[in-house]
Amino acid sequence: ELPVVNHTPQAYAGPSRDEVIALRKQYVSPGVITYYREPLMVVEGHMQYVWDETGKRYLDAFAGIVTVSVGHCHPKVVEKVRAQTGELQHTTTIYLHPALPQFAEALAAKMPEGLSRSYFTNSGSEANEIAILSAREYTGNTDVIALRNCYHGGTATTMGLTAHGTWKFKANQAPGIHHTHAGYCYRCPYGLEYPSCDLKCARDIEDVIKYQTPGEVACFIGEPIQGVGGAVTPPKEYFQIVYDIVRRYGGICIADEVQGGFGRTGTHYWSHQNWDVVPDAITMAKGIGNGIPLGAFTTTEAISEVMTRRVHFNTYGGNPISMTQGLATLEVIDEDGLQQNSLEVGGHLKDRLHELADKHSAIGEVRGLGLMLGVELVTNRQTREPATQLAADVLEAMKLRNVLVGKGGLHGNTLRIKPPMCITKDDADYLVAMLDECLRDLTG
Ligand code: PMP
Repeated sequence: ELPVVNHTPQAYAGPSRDEVIALRKQYVSPGVITYYREPLMVVEGHMQYVWDETGKRYLDAFAGIVTVSVGHCHPKVVEKVRAQTGELQHTTTIYLHPALPQFAEALAAKMPEGLSRSYFTNSGSEANEIAILSAREYTGNTDVIALRNCYHGGTATTMGLTAHGTWKFKANQAPGIHHTHAGYCYRCPYGLEYPSCDLKCARDIEDVIKYQTPGEVACFIGEPIQGVGGAVTPPKEYFQIVYDIVRRYGGICIADEVQGGFGRTGTHYWSHQNWDVVPDAITMAKGIGNGIPLGAFTTTEAISEVMTRRVHFNTYGGNPISMTQGLATLEVIDEDGLQQNSLEVGGHLKDRLHELADKHSAIGEVRGLGLMLGVELVTNRQTREPATQLAADVLEAMKLRNVLVGKGGLHGNTLRIKPPMCITKDDADYLVAMLDECLRDLTG
C-alpha cells in the first residue's frame, strides 16, 4: 500500500482521457508522444503524489522530469503566487519590479563566492544559450566542449551540445562544439578501471582541444551528474582535471545545474560542489521554480558585463510570477529542510536499491547522489548488454503499482528516480518493494 496521505483529491469533472487523447492527436504537435502504452492523465497533485482522472494516486518519483522540487502545489508556493497573480501578472525588465532583484539576491546568497549576477529565462535551454553566448563574448573564442551523453536543451546551440543522436535534427547543426568523454565508469570507453585508469576520460579534453580547436576555447559545459544521460556520476577528481585543462586553454567552466541543483544531491546545495570545484557560471531551471517556466544563468560580475554590449533581454525573463514562485521555492527548500531530507531519504533509498541489486542480476549499477539516482538495467552482468526493453517494461509495471519513474541513458536502459525532495522513507520503501516485485515478475 502507498503511504497514507492527508489530502483528498477533488472529483474530476473535465474531459475524459480518450477525449484528451483525441484532442492531442488533432491539435497538438507532435501529437501523443507520451510515456506508457496507455497514456497517463494527471489531474491533481499534492506534494510527492499525483492523481489521475479516476482518483488513482501515484508516488511521483520523476517529479515532472525533475522539476517539482519542493512538492506539487506546496501550500506556501501556492499562497505566494496566488497573491502575486491577483496583484500584477506581467511586466518586463524594461520597468522595475521588486520581485526580480529580490529573487536574484536570494539566489546569489546560495551561490559560490563571486557568482552574483543572474540573467533570467523561461527554460534551461535558453539559460544554456545565454551561457554559451556569454562565454564566447567574454573570451573572444568560439569553441565549446561538452560531454558525451549530455543533455543541454532543444534550441539550436543546445541541441548541438546535446550528445544523443536521437535528440538531434539534421537541420539544426551548431558549429564550434566538440565532445569529450564523460566520467561514465560503468561503460568506460577505454575499458579501464578507476583509480588505476588515472582518469584518462577527464584528460581526453586536452586532446580534443589540441586536435579540434585553434588551441583556445570559449568554455566547457557539463552536468555534474548527467540527468537525461542516466545519473552518470564521475569519479571525484574528474571535474578538477577538466576545469584545470579548460582554464589553461582560455576557457570558462559552466556547470549545468538544471537537474542537480537546489539541494537535490543532499550533500551540497549545488551538485558540482561534490567535486570540489568552483565554476565560472551556473545554469539552472526545472527545480528552481517548482514547475513554473523559469531558468537562470548566474555568473561573475565580469562575465555578466558582456550582456551590456548589446540590448539584451527577453519578454518573460524575470516576470513577477516566475520570480515570486522561484523565491518561494528557495525559501521552502530551507524552511522544510529539503536538502537534509534529500541526503537522508536519498541515502536510505540508495542503500535499499543496492540491496535489490544483490537480489536481481538485471541491475547492472545503482548510481547517483541524494535524490538523483539511476538504476542501469542489463541483460547480462558480465557483458553489461543494455536491457532497453526491460527498462520500458519496468516503467509500465511500476505505473500499475502506483509509482512513476523515468528512464534515460544512451540505451534508454537506466531508470531515473528523482522525486520531489519532500518524499519520505516510507515512500522510498514502497518504491523499492514495487521495483522488487516488477523485476521478479519480468525477469523470473
Ligand atoms: N539542461 C539539462 C541538464 C536538462 O536536463 C534540460 C532538460 N531536460 C535542459 C538543460 C533543458 O531545459 P528545458 O527543457 O527547460 O529547456
